[in-house]
Amino acid sequence: MIPETAPLRQVPAWQQELAHAISDPAELLRVLELDLALLPAARAAVALFPLRVPRGYVARMQKGDPRDPLLRQVLPLGEETVATPGFLADPVGDQQAMVAPGVLHKYHGRVLLIATGACGVHCRYCFRRAFPYADANPRAEHWRQALAYLAKQTSVSEVILSGGDPLSLSNHHLSALLNGLVTIPHLRRLRIHSRQPIVLPERVEQGLVDLLAGLSLQPILVLHANHPREIDVGVGEALRRLGAAGVMLLNQSVLLKEVNDSAAILADLSLTMFRFGVMPYYLHLLDRVQGAAHFEVEENRALAIMEELRNGLPGYLVPRLVREQAGQPAKTPVPRSPRILAPAIQLPKGK
Ligand SMILES: *Cc1c(COP(=O)(O)O)cnc(C)c1O
Ligand code: SF4
Repeated sequence: MIPETAPLRQVPAWQQELAHAISDPAELLRVLELDLALLPAARAAVALFPLRVPRGYVARMQKGDPRDPLLRQVLPLGEETVATPGFLADPVGDQQAMVAPGVLHKYHGRVLLIATGACGVHCRYCFRRAFPYADANPRAEHWRQALAYLAKQTSVSEVILSGGDPLSLSNHHLSALLNGLVTIPHLRRLRIHSRQPIVLPERVEQGLVDLLAGLSLQPILVLHANHPREIDVGVGEALRRLGAAGVMLLNQSVLLKEVNDSAAILADLSLTMFRFGVMPYYLHLLDRVQGAAHFEVEENRALAIMEELRNGLPGYLVPRLVREQAGQPAKTPVPRSPRILAPAIQLPKGK
């Protein structure tokens, strides 16, 4: 019998789903009916970066196809264990931009918080796959340093929650952070960078939608989808509900070899996401993180794909091709435009 004084704490469905995500490569291969000869290499790769993939996402993959574009994003391969010159642990200079634990201030007017190291899925190409999350945990002292920094920076009008995946925080932890942020008078916008609604649409439960809709900051959700097959009925429905609640929806993708390195796939992705109210934002060239060299698409190929996209889509459905370069004041457009030294934009007060 359960004593009345100990109320049963309901574990949300999405957290149960996360707890049951596949983390054993043998199980992933078995579920997808793939050759077990892939196993030794997969085991070597997970020693460097663990496997993690929700079952609902695996269900969107084609059984028996080792080249499935969704599988390729999560399947640990032997290539990851090979050191490639030019591929680094911290390719984008995060460490030098850290102004407090988990607080990255690289660009004018925006501050990025590493809200958590946890993700719903482990993407093998992740540029933060080697990030020392343990040393950058702003939650350890209840965001105190992060909030204190933001309170001092009156030129910052936008906070970006990143990670890891900030939506792997529970609503309870998320609202604790948001309650702190809304007390900072110069903040106007809250941006969340998340792959969770794509890989685990159950995360978009009513509690989260209410949390974002009820905010005094303008909410922006930047999703991370790379392939149109990632958008199934459940994902579409989650996106619709977010949009209906007034959340601005954008998508960023990473250009990945043998995943989405074709104009047809990327056009399909833009059109599919737009059906659910999502606008394309960035298409990133791969960040050169160690272990991900086999995902890199050459810049010339990327530019050719962009040309095809521009010719085949309405202009508003064409993402911006960028790369992140350590030490630069913004994401760098590709091809790199000559950098004109411009003074910082002066906005009217309160914008
Ligand atoms: C990418 C990034 C941003 C956001 O840049 P936008 O161009 O506004 O999307 C902000 N801070 C950091 C540290 C980033 O890496
Ligand atoms: S969800 Fe984002 S942060 Fe997490 S592993 Fe994938 S790319 Fe990296």
